[in-house]
Amino acid sequence: MARAAVTPELEKERRRKWILLIVMLLSLAVMITSLIFLARIRGWRVRRSEKSLLTIVSASSPASADSDQTLSFVDDDFMIDERCAAQLEQMLHDCRAAGHKPKILSAYRSESEQRELFNALTEDLVADGHDFDTARELAALQVDPPGESEHQLGLAVDIAEEEDHKPGGTQLWLDAHAWEYGFILRYPAGKENITGKNFVPDHYRYVGTDAAKQIHELDITLEEYVAMFYGN
Ligand SMILES: [Zn+2]
Repeated sequence: MARAAVTPELEKERRRKWILLIVMLLSLAVMITSLIFLARIRGWRVRRSEKSLLTIVSASSPASADSDQTLSFVDDDFMIDERCAAQLEQMLHDCRAAGHKPKILSAYRSESEQRELFNALTEDLVADGHDFDTARELAALQVDPPGESEHQLGLAVDIAEEEDHKPGGTQLWLDAHAWEYGFILRYPAGKENITGKNFVPDHYRYVGTDAAKQIHELDITLEEYVAMFYGN
């Protein structure tokens, strides 16, 4: 069978097609690479924001002075990090629906508010006859010194019974269900040597739903969870 002669025009046309194909393939490669790159950045951002929910505040690692949290109002008078405001409202709603009367006693506190609380208690103890250093040490057993309270993160909330402000049915319900909303009882009994804090029955901390679920299921503290999953 006779083959058509390859004219210069046909040759040019073939070359043009090849160049077009290569350009298309290169464009596709650039698009795929860009998508992978963007997905990685997004993944990194998500992981970084998850990690910021797990911040541990202590004397050696204080909360940065009044940083740039975005706060939302809850229960009219209190402010909390907007990342957990809806979850907190839902938790309180469901706790009430279960027949309890939860009341927020404290949520976000600025560093100056924390300082006022701590200084007021220290002054009371000095008035009771303690010397200043002893008064500060005793005060620190009840109120965190400024910089050392996770209330300054906007991720902690104290919740007790409405009437007597003491732990009760509300606590039992929260102990069983808080994790479903991303909250954990932050300073549980029997874990004082790990958390470095005395048992606080009404102090709940938002860590996100994934972390809260694992912390609840494994019956561990935030310190243990961070060490286990983030290695520090
Ligand atoms: Zn608290």
